Amino acid sequence: MKTVQSTNARTGEPLGAPLVAHTPEQVDKAAEAAALAFAGWQASAGGQRAQLLRGLADALEADREELVTLADLETALGPVRLNGELDRTAFQLRRFADMAERGVAFERTDDPAVAGGPPVGHPAMVRQRVPLGPVAMFSASNFPFAFSVLGGDTASALAAGCPVVVKAHTGHLLLSIRVFGLIQKVLASLNLPAGLIGLVQGGGSDVGVRLMQHESIAAGAFTGSTRGGAALQAVANARPRPIPFYGELGSINPVIALPALLASKGADLAATLAGSISLGCGQFCTSPGVIVLIKDPASNAFVQQLTTALAAQKPHAMLTPGMRQAFDAGVEHMVTAGVKPLLQEVGNAEAPRPFLAQVDAVHFIAKTALREEVFGPASLIVWADSVAQTLEVLQAVGGSLTVTLWGADTETDDARALVRGAMAIAGRVLFTGVPTGVAVSAGQQHGGPWPSSTQPMTTSVGDAAIDRFLRPVCLQDAPAWVLARQGRPC
Ligand code: NAP
Repeated sequence: MKTVQSTNARTGEPLGAPLVAHTPEQVDKAAEAAALAFAGWQASAGGQRAQLLRGLADALEADREELVTLADLETALGPVRLNGELDRTAFQLRRFADMAERGVAFERTDDPAVAGGPPVGHPAMVRQRVPLGPVAMFSASNFPFAFSVLGGDTASALAAGCPVVVKAHTGHLLLSIRVFGLIQKVLASLNLPAGLIGLVQGGGSDVGVRLMQHESIAAGAFTGSTRGGAALQAVANARPRPIPFYGELGSINPVIALPALLASKGADLAATLAGSISLGCGQFCTSPGVIVLIKDPASNAFVQQLTTALAAQKPHAMLTPGMRQAFDAGVEHMVTAGVKPLLQEVGNAEAPRPFLAQVDAVHFIAKTALREEVFGPASLIVWADSVAQTLEVLQAVGGSLTVTLWGADTETDDARALVRGAMAIAGRVLFTGVPTGVAVSAGQQHGGPWPSSTQPMTTSVGDAAIDRFLRPVCLQDAPAWVLARQGRPC
């Protein structure tokens, strides 16, 4: 019998008794139950989907105190952050409920028949969408609510008409199980099948890989490391029938700060950036891991200001002892790869101190190792000679969730080139503020080219996330009764 253990994030001590990991047979059962639930859920009305999503949001809020206490023990993220994240998760569930009610999943393109022969003439056609089927959903450690059991992937999949089987994250097992208990009560109260939302627990290939391989699973939705995402994407592709795999992965989120702006606002920007680098102990996929500066006295002064501001930050404990070790190893790796530390204090066993270092653009471009995400409060200043070399740095990064561009408020040749270079590699380009903090909105794009995402033309946050779980189908010369369903699948 295999077991999995919850851990107190602050002490590293076991939390509660070991939990029995699910067997391959239990994983299969969860996938089969989701497939059974799919028949009814794919044909459900928008109002019914909305009722479930709102019920889930209400259940989360009603159990807030217990949930936040448990989440804090397992993640050390603190009650303020965790309450805010629970609010965001409930907001997200209700936003997808509203979209379900508005019939977003049932939107159609009506293309009436045109008389005559081809190419002008054609039959009556309606392009609509159908839900993909049961989704295997992998939670991330650093968002125990918003990218976990009832997070954005689950909300958007349910709104699209897809059941979900969650692979619980070992970093917050007890919380996942408690949330799953709430889900089961809501499903029962609405007379919905228990298999509509399943949960499996256990490490690596026994559980996660088995789930991805199950023939009933129609898509994977993953938030986590680039390494884990790459492994599971390979599993999705190696199936006899490959399936879409939506992986939201790690990112280094370059910040470009131009000297003219730094000359006037350097101190304020340094304080803001230091807060962003150490926010949540740097455990954000949007954490600014690279700061590109053009050689200039204003940039030199900014580095001083940033170093001072960052030295004053006191990050809290990391999510797991393993992450704490991985952070130290990542910093060591950067130093071995030739960066010059500006700020390097060890911190204590759980909570690291922020790390800041600098390197020349030529060296950064030459060393692949320097472009890997170091998960935690670490950032690297890259010194460029010119705008042209700044663009080379962006090209070397290749793919990122975000690029932040400070100082491009006036249209010039350089500003156009930088905006073009930023848009070429990022899912979101910011002109003010910092990349940490991802709004749940209609205009959001959370996902950029590899290695930040496996499907850069989709988003895992915001309204467009629903599109990932819907597949277009053209109905040609359909009978009246099919059209009368107005986009709702049979
Ligand atoms: P992780 O270690 O990759 O784990 C994510 C999930 O995938 C866990 O459920 C994990 O299972 C499972 N998993 C990982 N590798 C697997 C494999 N080879 N086979 C089967 N299952 C596997 O990531 P994490 O530590 O939770 O999260 C931190 C990372 O997520 C950072 O890199 C961060 O940047 C990224 N992130 C990205 C976004 C985004 O939106 N792009 C958002 C948040 C975080 P176990 O539970 O067994 O470990």
